[in-house]
Order: sequence, then structure tokens, then C-alpha cells
Amino acid sequence: MMQVVRQIREMQKISDQLRQVGKKIGFVPTMGYLHDGHLSLVKKAKGLCDVVVVSIFVNPTQFGPGEDFKRYPRDEEGDGAKLEGEAVDFLFIPEAGDMYPSGYQTYVDVTEVSKGLCGDFRPGHFRGVATIVAKLFNIVKPDVAIFGEKDYQQLLVIRKMVEDLNFDIKIIPGVLIREEDGIAMSSRNTYLSPDERKRALILYRSLLKGKDLFQSGERRASALVRAVKESIASVDGVSLQYVEVRDAETLEKIESVSKPAVIALAAIVGPVRLIDNIIIGRENGT
Ligand code: AMP
Repeated sequence: MMQVVRQIREMQKISDQLRQVGKKIGFVPTMGYLHDGHLSLVKKAKGLCDVVVVSIFVNPTQFGPGEDFKRYPRDEEGDGAKLEGEAVDFLFIPEAGDMYPSGYQTYVDVTEVSKGLCGDFRPGHFRGVATIVAKLFNIVKPDVAIFGEKDYQQLLVIRKMVEDLNFDIKIIPGVLIREEDGIAMSSRNTYLSPDERKRALILYRSLLKGKDLFQSGERRASALVRAVKESIASVDGVSLQYVEVRDAETLEKIESVSKPAVIALAAIVGPVRLIDNIIIGRENGT
């Protein structure tokens, strides 16, 4: 039976006890409204650890003014059932007022990796993400935490934070899970009308064009970016924020691809901001 924990102190006590008896704790932080992308991370955690903790917390500090914090989709009951189905051990659902009581004033800023890409379009977003993840790490005290490559910049921000702040936690990436038609699974897809959803398919198709071009020998980042942009421009109603090719390990800008790289993009479709990416030059091809 999965245990639902709402109090910070209680979660800390549970984790202390588990660690005392030598259990390896795996942790999957989420904002809920769970889909198979989230569940793939849970499965990964199950495979690596003795005990799995999932958190659901829609973190106010990572949303900017005018973003979708208030209307972010929520389904605690449905999420609970899905996690029970995966034999998750603990579901941690803290209250916003407990996580950020009045007078709260401490934030974590990963200065360089948070710049560019989504960082340019969502000022303060990664500061909010790094802060909440640091807090959750101090509450759940995991040995291993799993983050999806769907949010590629976030994964690298967390990696850097863990390295720089000496968190004794192993960060494991999980591959990006897509719907059958190719669209990247996201809780926010629920905001898309059927017509918008059809238009949004161009994002992954265009990333695939970029990957094809790479596989046919093109190494110049500018040429790959141009191909993806041209492809996206062929569909109306998709407003591109950025497409960039970056080093997959460091997220540094590159001119030419000589080791694994990520083609990352963000676009507005109807009421939704969507992100997607594809890895190129990785040995297993995923
Ligand atoms: P979120 O609930 O959107 O904050 O996401 C929680 C975790 O699930 C993050 O580590 C995300 O990267 C991961 N995630 C979200 N969507 C996907 C997906 N389609 N495939 C793999 N991981 C995902």
C-alpha cells in the first residue's frame, strides 16, 4: 500500500528511518497530472532503488507572472491511482504554505546553465526549480533522483546544483516519452484543442528533420537550426521562441557537432508553451 505523506517533518522522519535500515531511496519529483512520461521515471526508480518516493507539488516560485500557475491541471486522485499501480511506496504532497511559509527568503541560483534557451523566456524559472528541488532533496533525502530529458535544461541545472552544493545524490536521466503520434508527453498538452494538437506535431517532425540532416553528415549547428526552423514555419499557428543546438553534457553553445548534442526548442501553440528536444550524436541513438 502506498502511503500519502503531507507533512514535511513526517517525510523526513520516514526517510531517516529508511536510511537507518539501509534502504536505498529513489525519488521522482513532479507537479502531478501524471502521464506515462512521469511513470517511466517511476519505473526507472523502482529498478534502481529499494523504496520509491514520488512528490506532487505545483511549485509557485517557478511560475512567472502571467504563466499558468493558477490553472495548472491537477488530479490528485487519478495520480494516486496511477502511482499505486506502479507500486510506489510514498507519495509526498506538501502544502505551499508549509514549503514557503511567510518570511521565506532563501533561493538557489545556478547562474550559467540557467541562462539562454528557456531561461531567456522564463526569467526566474530555474531559480524556482533549483530552490524547490534543493528543498525536496532535504526533505526526502534520496540516494537517487530521476529527472526526464523532456526538460533538458532543467536536468542540467539540477545536475550542476547537486555538483556545486555537494548533495550526496545521484541524478539519473530518463528518456523523453512521446505519444504515439510523436508529440512529447506533457501535462500541458491537455490545454491543446484538437486543431492545435495537430499543428503541434510539426515540432517533433521538425526535430526529426534536424536529426536526419545530422545523420546524413551535416555538422554545422546553424544549418541544423535553419532546417528545423524552416520546417516549423511551414505550419500556421506555431510561434517559435527558439531552436538551438547545444552540447548535451554542458549545454554550451556549439558551432559544429562533434559529440552528443541536443536540438532544443520552445514554441507557443494556442494557449500553451511547449518544449521539445532531440539528442543527436549519442551512441545508442535515442
Ligand atoms: P513535471 O511534472 O512536468 O514537473 O515533470 C516531472 C518530471 O517528469 C520531470 O523530471 C520531467 O522532465 C519528467 N517528464 C515530464 N514529461 C516527460 C516526458 N514526456 N518524458 C520523460 N520525462 C518527462
